[in-house]
Amino acid sequence: MSPHTRPVLVFATHNPHKVQEIQEMLADRYEVKSLTDIGCHEEIIEDADTLEGNAKIKAQHVVTNYGLDCFADDTGLEVEALDGAPGIFSARYAGTHGDAEANMAKLLSELDRAANAGKTSRQAQFRTSICLIQQGQERLIEGVCRGRIEKSLSGVKGFGYDPLFTPEGHELTFAEMDAAQKNAISHRGRAVRAMLGCLLA
Ligand code: IMP
Repeated sequence: MSPHTRPVLVFATHNPHKVQEIQEMLADRYEVKSLTDIGCHEEIIEDADTLEGNAKIKAQHVVTNYGLDCFADDTGLEVEALDGAPGIFSARYAGTHGDAEANMAKLLSELDRAANAGKTSRQAQFRTSICLIQQGQERLIEGVCRGRIEKSLSGVKGFGYDPLFTPEGHELTFAEMDAAQKNAISHRGRAVRAMLGCLLA
């Protein structure tokens, strides 16, 4: 292998921003490719009932069908008073995939209902599960960020449930933090850094 040839590592996502972020962190050790880059346009059915299971389905799909090393991630918001919901349904909690406004409105109303039933905790956590398969070896890596769900929205940065989530030990919601501040403590930042440790070991 020439010193300039980098092994390919697929990130099982179509999102070029996510791929770019990881490519920068891996510097010149790996060539990170997206599903689009490898010509994977078929829908991968994520029908597991856990985040780990869904990450595994995506990574295994690439390894089986394309013969390339791969990692995949899946994230969910787990709320104590809602027995871990929305969890794997976080992206489509209110029905439409990716409708953050509706998802947050549903979360607040479900927390009101839970409080009326005596469950008053506002504790929650974001959890990111990564499945990494390199040379047939499969590893599951996790990143968790604990915090609480606020009663109203604050901040305009970030995405998803960020305006409602204040991480433990902080007074700002994720949506009030800049990206670097969020990445330093977030579930995804932690999971990705743990994976980098595995890859570069
Ligand atoms: P994904 O697995 O990264 O696509 O995340 C699934 C869903 O979880 C997203 O559509 C968001 O609703 C929510 N989510 C994931 N990460 C975050 C985050 O960092 N902030 C807020 N919401 C998030």
